[in-house]
Amino acid sequence: MAMEIKDIKQQLTLAQVLDYYGLKPDKHLRLHCPFHDDKTPSLQVYYKTQSCYCFSTKPLKKQSQ
Ligand SMILES: [Zn+2]
Repeated sequence: MAMEIKDIKQQLTLAQVLDYYGLKPDKHLRLHCPFHDDKTPSLQVYYKTQSCYCFSTKPLKKQSQ
């Protein structure tokens, strides 16, 4: 009997998800962002809130000079 996806999501911690994808945060809890071509670790992991934030993902806007 397979678990439902939502059940898995509710039971997995962020650490388990990262481990599943083979992502290992550095000592600053930053990762190379898997969502775009990331040269430096820009994905900040927050274990306290079970969330993460990518500092490189910014809204597209024109550069003025
Ligand atoms: Zn990113």
